[in-house]
Amino acid sequence: MSKTADAVIIGGGALGASVFYHLTRLGMRDVALLEKGELASGSTGDSAAFVRQHYSNEVSIRLVRKSLEFFQAFPDEFDGAEVFTSTGWLFLVPPEAADVFDVNIARLRDEGVKTWPISVEDAAEELPGLNTDGIARVAFEPESGYVDPGAMVRALASKGEANGGEVRLRSPATGIAANGNANTVSTPGGDVEARVVVNAAGPWAGEVGRWMGLDLPLELSREQDIVVRPPADAPKLRRCVSNMVDRTYIRPTADGNVLIGTGHPKENEPVPADSYRKEADEEFARETSRLLGRRFPALGGSAVAHGWAGLYTITPDWNMILDRSPANESHYLAVGGSGHSFKLAPAMGQCLAEMIVEGEARTVDISPLRAGRFDDGAALRSTYGGNRA
Ligand SMILES: Cc1cc2nc3c(=O)[nH]c(=O)nc-3n(C[C@H](O)[C@H](O)[C@H](O)COP(=O)(O)OP(=O)(O)OC[C@H]3O[C@@H](n4cnc5c(N)ncnc54)[C@H](O)[C@@H]3O)c2cc1C
Repeated sequence: MSKTADAVIIGGGALGASVFYHLTRLGMRDVALLEKGELASGSTGDSAAFVRQHYSNEVSIRLVRKSLEFFQAFPDEFDGAEVFTSTGWLFLVPPEAADVFDVNIARLRDEGVKTWPISVEDAAEELPGLNTDGIARVAFEPESGYVDPGAMVRALASKGEANGGEVRLRSPATGIAANGNANTVSTPGGDVEARVVVNAAGPWAGEVGRWMGLDLPLELSREQDIVVRPPADAPKLRRCVSNMVDRTYIRPTADGNVLIGTGHPKENEPVPADSYRKEADEEFARETSRLLGRRFPALGGSAVAHGWAGLYTITPDWNMILDRSPANESHYLAVGGSGHSFKLAPAMGQCLAEMIVEGEARTVDISPLRAGRFDDGAALRSTYGGNRA
């Protein structure tokens, strides 16, 4: 690796790869992406990777719209690579959230999101075998779906390399020494002098933040998903579903199985980034299978194929910090994905790259995601709670 760089990005997940790609796209050539393991080996590789647009604050709505356009145009920009499956998405809402749901739908439509309410009967047609008990409202987004997160990160990284950047795998950053705007990033392979350093270290962002002189407000929580194999005669699930009634998220997988996890409200499960149980718990598999069978009785007899646990890195308002560091103007932060930021990574990376190269983000005004918002009373509000921001 060259011993100097215009920018060093620490972390090869969705955020780091997106910043890397967009920096090279804006003409920065001497950009190095440091990844301590393999690409997408952190939260990104464990992501359920839903892409839905039902957010309740403007900044997230605008970021997800831009990101959806990016996913839709992916094959054109990335040599035919298909990483996005547009299944359509349904949001099942209980009576107690019906009022905020109506307000949200109006806001989303004002922002240009292609979404509308559908009747519970129509939802049952979209989702054959659906038990409609307890469902008061349903939102439909015909264009939403899910992504193959590892494939997306690899495509961004290799395009960034084709544009002149350098990806270094199994290359942990081990410290940052800052002297004004001159930074020395240490790695076992030698130091790199860098004008700009980006912290995109996912669950390890707190540690990298300390090297930057910051005490970032981040908490980790273990998050589990399972994949089940439906009985052969069960109706096929073709759409992605966020089910606020039973607090589950459910989607088809590329090979005809069904992925399921549990939504909020729920307790966080704090764990250290480097030592936690990476398999799903038996009790979790049993309970989520039960919830799946309650909502889709024909899927009740599904066999658990596999399961895993990954990490949410959570900020106090469940939204990322995407900003220049308040402590050093050559340091940048893309931290605290809070369980929903894979889908936002394309536009977030573009905005941060614009801030680095051009001084401010042009694509979306990301000032609501600034680092100082928790101290100046400007934390974002989440209509439904948790990561349904
Ligand atoms: C189970 C689960 C389900 C999820 N479902 C969804 C979903 O449906 N939709 C959605 O939008 N989001 C979802 N998320 C959230 C989403 O996956 C994350 O917000 C997003 O992937 C975070 O990306 P990142 O790049 O910030 O972090 P990561 O993917 O964790 O990347 C950080 C990288 O930095 C590397 N690194 C750390 N320290 C160093 C160092 N010192 N030197 C070099 N490299 C370093 C790590 O190895 C890692 O690869 C889910 C998350 C989980 C865990």
